[in-house]
Amino acid sequence: MEFFDIAETWSREAISAAQIVRLRNTVEQAMKSPFYGQRLKEAGVTPGSIRSLDDVRRIPLTSKDDLRAQYPDGLICVPKSELVRMHASSGTTGTPTVVYHTQSDLNSWADLMARCMYMVGIRREDVFQNMAGYGLFTGGLGIHYGAERLGCLTIPAGAGNTRRQVKLVRDFKTTVAHIIPSYALYLGAALRDEGEDPAELPLRIALIGAEPHTEEARRRIEDMLGLKAYNSYGLSEMNGPGVAFECVHQNGLHVWEDAYIAEIIDPVTGEAVPDGEVGELVMTTLCRQGMPVLRYRTRDLTRFLPGECPCGRVHRRLDRILGRADDMLIVKGVNIYPMQVEQVLMGFPEVGQNYLIVLERDDFRDVLRVKVEIRDEYFEEDMRKLHGLRERITRRIHDEILVTPKVDLVQHNSLPKSEGKAQRVQDLRDKPAL
Ligand code: ADP
Ligand code: ZN
Repeated sequence: MEFFDIAETWSREAISAAQIVRLRNTVEQAMKSPFYGQRLKEAGVTPGSIRSLDDVRRIPLTSKDDLRAQYPDGLICVPKSELVRMHASSGTTGTPTVVYHTQSDLNSWADLMARCMYMVGIRREDVFQNMAGYGLFTGGLGIHYGAERLGCLTIPAGAGNTRRQVKLVRDFKTTVAHIIPSYALYLGAALRDEGEDPAELPLRIALIGAEPHTEEARRRIEDMLGLKAYNSYGLSEMNGPGVAFECVHQNGLHVWEDAYIAEIIDPVTGEAVPDGEVGELVMTTLCRQGMPVLRYRTRDLTRFLPGECPCGRVHRRLDRILGRADDMLIVKGVNIYPMQVEQVLMGFPEVGQNYLIVLERDDFRDVLRVKVEIRDEYFEEDMRKLHGLRERITRRIHDEILVTPKVDLVQHNSLPKSEGKAQRVQDLRDKPAL
């Protein structure tokens, strides 16, 4: 195995041994904040009482609300003068949470990120363009420092401005891009609209992540842009990108267990789910000094994938994130995840890159409306054909979610698009009628 960090080659025994030692150190460090000092004391957890990895379950869970309640600086565990950077979550689901880093925290984060990139075949000869937003969002600087650590020429393009992105790719022969999947689809379509073939660009690899997306969306990105796209998972509470990443086999995301403890729990009972079952991902930092976070409830739903990976890394693999617990829609009493709708839509060649799920209320009944952008060449077809397409999409979505949607076929580029994470759902049910 070619590796960037020796920890990638560790056996299960070596990983477990390191995890125990690091968990003890992390508990000791975390206790320096009043919040964890109190929490751990109440639970009777001391560093010395951690004897096996199972002892992690004696540590109380930390929720996003816990972090919000400590806003802005209640979880710092080092003298403030040792902190060199702060980040915040994108705030997709409410008040952002803030995370602080020491220089050593930033170094280990950059190492983790460089490890991910090396794993998928990126080398110092590559030209790397970061098309994600900079600023507080961790997908900017987090990936940026990883690329520099690996030794790539790194272009901090930032998000949006498609024309400039493409010019940079062409002029500087960018071979690798970091790009949010919804924007990758948009960029590909935008180039096509101008009569160009996006697959002609020098790009050979895209790192895609930061928002839920389906396997179908990934394949589209790969086909349209003519490259390999690797799923990148992270969250600001656990640094940001570099937490779990696909290897070249694209069969789940290796979570770096020398740096994190990952668990999957039943979101209702808080107990571990049987191996292989879907539940909420819970994560503990093992290498962070400035602001360790213990057993953080990510609200992300996934499962551990069974079996060994042909790449030889034993770091366990997570299935792609099925969605956030917060994203679950309840329509007519049925639980629905937006990704179920995406999976259906992306299977239709007529469907363009953007869609929007709108929840409405009609005479006290829930209505699930799905607005779907249709590619120009199909939109110009006769009414009968479009009607047939609408029927087929309606039926397939119904088969998947067991609710009959109202499907609107709309013109290419007519739905709102965002430069950051896509907003796939609009809930108008609580709004008074106009
Ligand atoms: P926010 O929760 O405000 O969006 P972050 O910017 O920290 O804050 O984003 C982290 C979240 O983004 C994760 O918890 C997850 O829901 C989502 N996410 C990140 N990477 C992926 C990915 N590869 N697949 C699916 N969802 C992802
Ligand atoms: Zn692998």
